[in-house]
Amino acid sequence: MGLDQILARVRAAEQAAGRAAGSVTLIAVSKVQPAERVQAVLDQGHRVFGENYVQEAAGKWPDWRAAYGPLQVHMIGPLQTNKAKLAVDLFDAIHTLDRPSLAQKLASLGQARGSLPQLFVQVNTGEEPQKAGVLPADLPGFLRDCAGLGLSPHGLMCIPPEDQDPTPHFAVLARMAADHGLSGLSMGMSSDFEVAIAHGATHIRVGSAIFGARTYPTP
Ligand SMILES: *Cc1c(COP(=O)(O)O)cnc(C)c1O
Repeated sequence: MGLDQILARVRAAEQAAGRAAGSVTLIAVSKVQPAERVQAVLDQGHRVFGENYVQEAAGKWPDWRAAYGPLQVHMIGPLQTNKAKLAVDLFDAIHTLDRPSLAQKLASLGQARGSLPQLFVQVNTGEEPQKAGVLPADLPGFLRDCAGLGLSPHGLMCIPPEDQDPTPHFAVLARMAADHGLSGLSMGMSSDFEVAIAHGATHIRVGSAIFGARTYPTP
């Protein structure tokens, strides 16, 4: 599809939902994409990207920041506690705060360095056993624990089950965010970002629709 078409669809979805133009941040998910595809999108002027792997991001974004000037890189993949220090130095936002041990680690890093990336709490809205994220029933307690540690998450994030209609998941995430006074909503991917925008997404994470299909290195 390409960046321009996706941006046009985002603007149309904002308008259809009665939302201000520019109220949705398009995160271009560049994980495992060849450098020339990412550079093409940088050259078109886009400045907000998403990555899933700390090591991969560390290998490319410092150079691109130096070359292209101010940009935002969002961590949207699972974050191991032992990579948290690298992550807070590298990313502008972390969408995958999903457990108490990571909250503790981020809180202590924040104390040491005086600031932290913007944080989203990942919620496992589908209650899938293999998927990361705080269970909906545990969210109030988790947010209380975060507050106790001095963390103030900006919003919530979800990845709906692959085989289901995402609509109820987006709706429930939006309701939970409103219940807790959180303004950020990270939801919606290539196949469903317009639905997510209709339900109040503030950040959509779109990869293959911008860059083309990902080819993972064979293990
Ligand atoms: C890879 C990924 C995306 C982008 O997926 P597409 O279907 O390529 O748009 C979005 N969110 C998360 C958490 C991802 O891991």
